[in-house]
Amino acid sequence: MNPWIFLGITVVAIALALWIPRYRLKRAVEAPFPDEWVEILEANIGIYRSLPMPLRLQLRKLIKQFLHQKHFTGAGGLEITDEMRVTIAAQACMLQLNRKGALYPRLRYIIVYPAPFIVSREETDSSGVSGKARRGLLGESWSSGKVILAWDTVLRGARNFVDGQNVVLHEFSHQLDSEDGSTDGAPLLAGESSYRSWAKALSSEYRVLQRKARRGGRSLMDHYGATNPAEFFAVATETFFEKPHGMADRHAELFEVLRGYYRVDPRDWQPRET
Ligand SMILES: [Zn+2]
Repeated sequence: MNPWIFLGITVVAIALALWIPRYRLKRAVEAPFPDEWVEILEANIGIYRSLPMPLRLQLRKLIKQFLHQKHFTGAGGLEITDEMRVTIAAQACMLQLNRKGALYPRLRYIIVYPAPFIVSREETDSSGVSGKARRGLLGESWSSGKVILAWDTVLRGARNFVDGQNVVLHEFSHQLDSEDGSTDGAPLLAGESSYRSWAKALSSEYRVLQRKARRGGRSLMDHYGATNPAEFFAVATETFFEKPHGMADRHAELFEVLRGYYRVDPRDWQPRET
C-alpha cells in the first residue's frame, strides 16, 4: 500500500477513535433527563427537593454522564434496575458538584448486592495472630476501578440524608482519595498550601476522634473514622453532607477545609440537626 494512503488511514482511524467516545458522551449528557428518573430522585434522595435549582440541574447532567460511563452489575442474584442506577449515581455525583474534569476517571464498575455481602480476608489480630476472617460489608471501594455496594444500605442511606450514615458518599470519597494513587485520606488538592491546611485540619481532628473512640466518648462523627486517615476522610465526608450545621459548629476548621474541597455548602439545603 502506498505509504501516504496508509498514513492517511491511520490518522483518520486515530481521529475517529478519539472523537467517537466524546461524541457519544456529549449526546448522552445532552439527552433529556427522563421523567421517571426525576421521580426516582424525588422518592429516594432525601434532600433532592431541597437542593437549589442550579445544583439540581447540574446533578442531573452528572448523573447522565455517570450512567453513560460506568457499568453496573448485580451480584448475589440481584437484577439491576434504573432505580438502583439513578439512586447510586445521584449520591456519587453529589461529591462532584461544581467541579470540572473527569468523573471518577479510574472507576469502571459498580457491583451491587441485595444486602450486606460476606468477604473472607487474611487478617492479623492485636496479638499478632493471622488467619482468615469472614466479614459482612455494606460497601467497598477498590482503587483498581470498582465499587461494591449493598442495595438495602444504599437505599436506607439515600432516603435518610441527615443521620451521618451514607455508604455511597463513604465509598465514593474513597474513590476520590485514591485518584492520586494512594488511599491515605488526602485526595488530589489544588496546591501545596491546600495540602498543608488539609493535613493540619484532618490530622488534629483525626487524633481527637481516636481519643474519643478509645474512651467510648460521644462524637458527631462515627467512631469508625478513627480506624485510619482514609476512613476518617470518608466518615468526615458523610458528616459534612449529612450533618453540616453540627460540623460547622463543632469542627469549624475541618468543615471549612471540606467546604473548599467539595465546593458546596450543604447548610444551604440541609435542615439544622436537632
Ligand atoms: Zn471506608
